[in-house]
Amino acid sequence: MALEEYKRKRNFKQTPEPAGKVERGKGHRFVVQKHRASHLHYDFRLEMDGVLKSWAIPKGPSLDPADKRLAMQVEDHPVSYFDFEGIIPPGNYGAGTVMVWDVGKWQPEGDAHAMLAGGDLKFNLDGDKLKGSFALIHIRSSKPGNKGTEWLLIKHRDAYVQEPYDIDEYDHSALTKRTLDQIADDAGARQWKSSRPAATSGRSTKNDWLADSIAKADAKKREAAAKASAGAGSRRPAQKKASAKKLATKVTTSASSAIKKKSPSGKGLGH
Ligand code: MN
Repeated sequence: MALEEYKRKRNFKQTPEPAGKVERGKGHRFVVQKHRASHLHYDFRLEMDGVLKSWAIPKGPSLDPADKRLAMQVEDHPVSYFDFEGIIPPGNYGAGTVMVWDVGKWQPEGDAHAMLAGGDLKFNLDGDKLKGSFALIHIRSSKPGNKGTEWLLIKHRDAYVQEPYDIDEYDHSALTKRTLDQIADDAGARQWKSSRPAATSGRSTKNDWLADSIAKADAKKREAAAKASAGAGSRRPAQKKASAKKLATKVTTSASSAIKKKSPSGKGLGH
């Protein structure tokens, strides 16, 4: 994969994302972007062969070896995407807020090309938040509807393990320390308004399954959160945290229903 699919999905006159080009010889950097599009997810990207190999992880990475995180491989991104933080305007592919959640170096534990091709990529991360040994394992499934893009991200047991690991406790940018809400507010103030209608024609539906998977993961999370707060009863002292969660759920729900209204087929709910 070069960058054709990345470019085909985007209108660079409308999105502040970089158009990008293949850049060889920059080395082994990695970035994880927290991306609140129609559904919150994390984009895990490894620099390799002059592009960023990319996976969308609905629940985000974890330092707990018990968490096997579904990671859906998506199109290669340009290396210039590495420090993209801000807003993708409404109507564009992946519209929403992007945070640079973690950055650092990665080191393959063996021949990176062979491991990637074999669906068993083992590597070491040296970031601010993610450290130590991990594996990305390709899921081979003959299930109908399986697109062959599903992998699992798993932490290996080492000195950097954290059990349990709650990714929501780390809502701050590796670049600017801002929370996702702060990035949304800051960028929103500067956001220009396009007079052009959002492009809706010619958009691929091939990522609908990705949106569906993320939606399912979101629904499960909401269900679990609802159960947890119902079980906690009214004497619970941590009311501040609970109401913040409720608010977050409300925002997510209204965003989803807004998108449903606009696009009943779920088209364009991208990563
Ligand atoms: Mn994304």
